[in-house]
Parts: sequence; structure tokens; C-alpha cells
Amino acid sequence: MLKSNAKKAAISAASTAAVCLMLLLVVVQHHRAKVAEDAGTGATGTGSPIRDAASPAAEDARLGSAPAVRPGFSAYFTKLSRGRREAEKPLRASASAAEPPPAEDISPDDIFIAVKTTKKFHRPRLNLLLDTWISRNMQQTYIFTDGEDDELKKKIGSHAINTNCSAAHSRQALSCKMAVEYDKFIESGKKWFCHVDDDNYVNVRALVKHLSQYPHTQDMYIGKPSLDRPIEATERLGDNKMKPVNFWFATGGAGFCVSRGLALKMSPWASGGHFMNTAEKIRLPDDCTIGYIIESVLGVPLTRSNLFHSHLENLQQVQRSEIHKQITLSYGMFENKSNIINLKGVFPVEEDPSRFKSVHCLLYPDTPWCPPQVAF
Ligand code: UDP
Ligand code: MN
Repeated sequence: MLKSNAKKAAISAASTAAVCLMLLLVVVQHHRAKVAEDAGTGATGTGSPIRDAASPAAEDARLGSAPAVRPGFSAYFTKLSRGRREAEKPLRASASAAEPPPAEDISPDDIFIAVKTTKKFHRPRLNLLLDTWISRNMQQTYIFTDGEDDELKKKIGSHAINTNCSAAHSRQALSCKMAVEYDKFIESGKKWFCHVDDDNYVNVRALVKHLSQYPHTQDMYIGKPSLDRPIEATERLGDNKMKPVNFWFATGGAGFCVSRGLALKMSPWASGGHFMNTAEKIRLPDDCTIGYIIESVLGVPLTRSNLFHSHLENLQQVQRSEIHKQITLSYGMFENKSNIINLKGVFPVEEDPSRFKSVHCLLYPDTPWCPPQVAF
């Protein structure tokens, strides 16, 4: 009895195994057929979107219908979601191109704006800035000069910094001022360092908007080159050896900005007395020395922006309708002719030769000295 039971069990196990084997064969056979079918349509998982578009799954995705549940349906789901991703791609790209989201939510207080000036320009140049853009941005603006001025102190207090540098327009004197600007910025703990000359108008709203595109912890050097090619300089290596170096630099006369992350990396070549030594090594002015440290020594490229303007470019080309978007403006002489922006404005050119008062009334119409109706 036991024997016959064991025999029955053995037969039953054998037949189960046979059924399993047959099933397995059927599955393998089906899988082979499926692979061959996929190879025929080209949909092998790494196919191009054109091929995918011809596949049934992509067709279903386009028509919005559910795919028929057929053997290998998991592959269809994979293809279906890929088809959807492909279809959504252009939409996503255009949405982000229209308005890049800010990388960081910064305020004017996060920016350190250094204005370089000299005692003889306090009245003819600086007062105009104090009456216009600086009046709205006292907390983030610092004036670097070379002489004591009680009137200036009354207006801006400790933000008027006497660098004790020479009042000459020499390379050394200018580098001496930039060195103090750099050290004061590091001391301030602010997120961005921006440098301008005393013939620049700074539109702080546009500046904040622009800088908020970048994290201040990243290496950022933003401005506009005045040359159409990198500057060619010679680095003095000591023991009478010279090395040619090429690099781009943002012209100081248009203003430029450096993120704190990058400024900290510049320290060995820029802090304390190092900036003057670095400037001597390449024998170039302050703004070129900044470019040399950033591009040549640290290997960080200049990020160009057309929103910065110096009087080395034709300022007539700045469009009236685009003035509110510009970060800096300037004025000066070019080939013996006055180089100013083309703005009819609320003040005639005789009363406002730089056009800065008119620009200010355009940007801040609630300013008490601006004519009540700003209609131009
Ligand atoms: N500057 C200075 N010391 C001088 C002469 C000029 O610090 O002896 C400053 C000036 O206040 C300005 C910058 O250097 O911020 C550039 O001067 P300027 O606009 O006269 O000359 P540019 O280089 O633009 O022709
Ligand atoms: Mn100038």
C-alpha cells in the first residue's frame, strides 16, 4: 500500500514537472517572438524619438488612449511614459526660457556697492550720485576716496572711507583703493561685491534681480569687457623670468560684481597688501588685476552682461524703453563729443548733462524734487 502510494506520488510529481516544463517552453518561445517583433519596429529601448513615435505606445500616448493589454505590457508602460516625457519636453523648456527662477532670494542689503572716487570729484561727480541713486541705497553703498571731507561724512557717515591712498590717477593709487574695497567687502559679510566708478548710475532694483539668478556661494564674476578680445599681459615670475598671459576682464568703468564664494578664493592674491603685489606682477590697472586673479589664476570665466555700461561704448545705443532694465549707466566724452544716453526725460540736457537726474525720476517718480508729472 505504501509502495503503491509512493508510485502514485512519483507519477504525479513527474507529470507536474512535465507540465511546468511545457509552460516554461511556451513562455520562452513567446519571449523570443516578442524580441524579434521589437527588433523589427526598432523599439529596443534606446531607439530614437522618431522610432519611438512610430511605436504603438507612442501612438497611444499621442492619441491619449490606453494601450491594449498585450503580452509584454510592462514594456509598453515604459515606452508610454517615455513617449509622454518626449511630448512634454518642449513645453518644459519654453516655460523655463521665459523667466528663469531666481537661484536665491536676495535683497539690496546683501550687496556691497563700492564707489571709487577722488577728493577733486566729490563735488562735481559724487554729489550727483548722492542726490540720485545713492540716496535710495545708503545702507549698501560705500564710498572709497583719498581725502577727508566733513560734508561727505555728514551725508553718509562711516560709509565714506578714506583709503589714505594717493590722489594720483596712477596704477598704484587705483590698485591701493581696490585693495581697500576688497578688504572692506570681506569684513562686511555681504553676499555680493560690486564695484563702480563715480560716473556710474546704479539701478539697484535691476542689479538685485540680475544677481538673484546666481547663488552667491558659486564662483561668479559678472560684468562687461571693454575689449573685443582677451587682454595680453606679461606676468613677472621673479628671477627676471616673464610669462605671457591672456585673460578677459570686466571694465571697471561699467561696474562689475563678484560673488562672495569667489571673493574668498581670491584672498591669497587680493587681501591685505597682496592686491598691490599682484597688480605689480602684471603691471596693469585695478580692474585688469581683478580679471587676472579670477580668470588667469583661479580659472573662473567672466560672465558677460550687456546690462552694464561705461562711457567707452556709444551710450546712444541704449534704448529708451530698456532703460529700467539696465544695471549701470555712465556719461563722458567720446571723440570730443558728449557721450550720454538718449533720454528726453524731465530735465533738459543743460540742467542734467549726465541724464542721471532724468533717469532717477523715471525709476523713482515719487522723489520730492522730481517734477510731479512724469510724462515723456
Ligand atoms: N579716479 C581716482 N583718482 C584719480 C582720478 C580718477 O580715483 O586721480 C577715479 C575716478 O573717481 C573714477 C575712476 O577713477 O571713479 C575713473 O576715472 P575717470 O572717469 O576720470 O577716468 P576714465 O578711466 O573713466 O577715463
Ligand atoms: Mn570714467
